[in-house]
Amino acid sequence: MADLPTSRSSHEVFLEDCLPRLKQLSHNLWWSWTPTSRQVFEVLDQTLWRLTHHNPVKQLQQIQSERLQHLAEDVVFRRRYVEAFKSFDDYMAAKDHWFGTKHSVHASSPIAYFSAEFGLHNSVPIYSGGLGILAGDHLKEASDLGVPLVGVSFMYRQSYFRQVIGLDGYQEAKYENLDRKDLPIQPALTESGEQCRVTVEINRRSVACVVWKIFVGRACLYLLDTDVPENSPEDRVLSARLYGGDRSVRLGQEMILGIGGVRALRALGIHPKAWHANEGHAAFLHLERLQEFVRNGVSITKAIQYIRQNSVFTTHTPVEAGHDFFSHHLIADYFSGFWERCGLTQQEFFEFGKNPNDSVGHFHMTALGIYFSSLVNGVSAEHGRVSRRMWQCLWPDRQEQDVPIRHVTNGVHVPTWIASEMNHLYSKYLGADWMTKSDNPAMWQGILDVPDSEIWEVRQILKRKLLNFITHRIRMGWTGGRFQSDQVLAGGAFFDPYVLTIGFGRRFATYKRANLLFRDLDRLRAILEDQWRPVQFIFAGKAHPADEPGKQLIHEVYRYAQSRDMSGRIAFIEDYDMHVAKFLVQGVDVWLNNPRAPFEASGTSGQKAALNGVPNLSVLDGWWKEGYDGTNGWAFPTTTEELDEQAQDDHDANVLYDVLEEQVIPLFYQCDQDRIPHGWVSIVKNAIRTNGPEFSARRMLKEYVDKFYVPLLDSNSELSDRVGSIESAS
Ligand SMILES: *Cc1c(COP(=O)(O)O)cnc(C)c1O
Repeated sequence: MADLPTSRSSHEVFLEDCLPRLKQLSHNLWWSWTPTSRQVFEVLDQTLWRLTHHNPVKQLQQIQSERLQHLAEDVVFRRRYVEAFKSFDDYMAAKDHWFGTKHSVHASSPIAYFSAEFGLHNSVPIYSGGLGILAGDHLKEASDLGVPLVGVSFMYRQSYFRQVIGLDGYQEAKYENLDRKDLPIQPALTESGEQCRVTVEINRRSVACVVWKIFVGRACLYLLDTDVPENSPEDRVLSARLYGGDRSVRLGQEMILGIGGVRALRALGIHPKAWHANEGHAAFLHLERLQEFVRNGVSITKAIQYIRQNSVFTTHTPVEAGHDFFSHHLIADYFSGFWERCGLTQQEFFEFGKNPNDSVGHFHMTALGIYFSSLVNGVSAEHGRVSRRMWQCLWPDRQEQDVPIRHVTNGVHVPTWIASEMNHLYSKYLGADWMTKSDNPAMWQGILDVPDSEIWEVRQILKRKLLNFITHRIRMGWTGGRFQSDQVLAGGAFFDPYVLTIGFGRRFATYKRANLLFRDLDRLRAILEDQWRPVQFIFAGKAHPADEPGKQLIHEVYRYAQSRDMSGRIAFIEDYDMHVAKFLVQGVDVWLNNPRAPFEASGTSGQKAALNGVPNLSVLDGWWKEGYDGTNGWAFPTTTEELDEQAQDDHDANVLYDVLEEQVIPLFYQCDQDRIPHGWVSIVKNAIRTNGPEFSARRMLKEYVDKFYVPLLDSNSELSDRVGSIESAS
């Protein structure tokens, strides 16, 4: 290093500034929902961008220095770069955001949000499906609105799993070890500058975990990780897989999340003023807080009262199997010593997780979450109703309608789910700042001014992008030697951009009935093969590896996709994840959802579709019960008669075929002289105009803040001195 030049060229200076800042940007997921910033990474090296599956952290490790030299001299890149950083710095420094303006007194009251999964971006695979995506959207929107939310979850070493469909048409689960250096995570440091470490006693062992953090705009997500050398081999993999392992692994994980999560926040010097458990997995957080209070001399009764006074619980499913419970025996082992420390008897402790409808007497996580929360909600109006019925047993002296479970209907983070082509169109007609007003119905009226030809053209482009994506996947499968010809067929090789394309992407849980469409094959074939008005369907989705009926459903649908009988008009896309979901919800013509009502708590994929001008064709359940207005898509009523499941499926399938044949298909193919289906476009516009504002995460988060967080923060202020001093002493 003896002969460093004394005066450096401007591009050397640029490079020196560039890399550290690019690294900083790659370590804040804000880049993923901000087009100007995403473009910086896209153009950095387009091939590498694709090869790393849009992972800027990996890209920066692999990019060649000649390429960077070249970019440093490129005026266009430099301008892009400067703009991206200006908006990043402005975003991070802003004080005039919604929360800061409306609720300034609470601007520095952290709200903890615990969730077993967060779907933020494909390059951070710590999610499995709807629940995680919802949590991710919640956190991103909190960042955008300036809500002081702090997320707590897991750093899963092997994430959920990648789905491959074998030659026999069955799903295979592939697990890969994630390399932490490829992720935008960094050690969460305590005040002393060490990586935060906590321990949790599980079944008389002391399990250690380290804590990582990810920046999500202004918000921060903390991730617990048990893969540390001092743990036994089985404890090291405790946090390896999302929803993996048996009951005891699940219990261990949930103890780490709840108990370890609270301890991690304490160790980091974060003292939340409100606590939100997203689904039952996180509910043990209350037990740790109980323990803290008792240790500090607060009576059990008072402690429970304090905890309730600042806790929110959100339940996410009416499906029984979606509610975790554990045997008393297992709980007694895993929590041994816990109740004594709290001055409780074992029986009193078990009462916290008691579900009166369960005669066997398990420990129920939803019951626990509800017990310790003064505010409880479901995720759509219908789900609120269903939950009140389901959990009335916890309030035996109340009428069903008086059960204190409310609802906040889910919504989606608009900047994450909007196609860039749609974003351009909306910027042109709704104003450049349209995204900041995404929950304002009046703003969305402007969509009616968009010429039909323009919106139709964008829809065609997005459909072609989807079909290109599918073709690329097939090519990779084929050239990689994995695909035989019938898998090429099943992948959608014969898909046609001029044909009405209907998408179905979601978990293959049985209640979602992915095979409903195949109930009457003759009728379906007639629809697919129609010479003048054909239809094609794309399916995608994973089944939980332990869900045999769900895997059977995939096999069934995949077999149809492989069959010549279906005219090449049924496709199954492997490995449904956020990346595939984006192409699907943006690119198809119609989004299909036909669960067995009333089991869809909300559903959010249809909201993403509507936002992009893809109308829904759905059972009136979950969010669609609120979203459908007769002009913005199609609803098919399921029968109100008491039928067995077979008869119900027959009935619903027939209604589905009727709606397709009588309404959806004719309207799509009914074009004027200008070759534009104006009737269809009017439905597209209504879907955007009505569903856009109502099912945005912005509307959702403001509701959580105004109905739940702020009332808790307000009611706590009188208590907060006392509680606060106890909590910070812990
Ligand atoms: C949005 C989304 C979901 C949730 O879809 P539902 O409509 O709730 O079934 C699941 N998985 C992925 C990858 C998603 O993007």
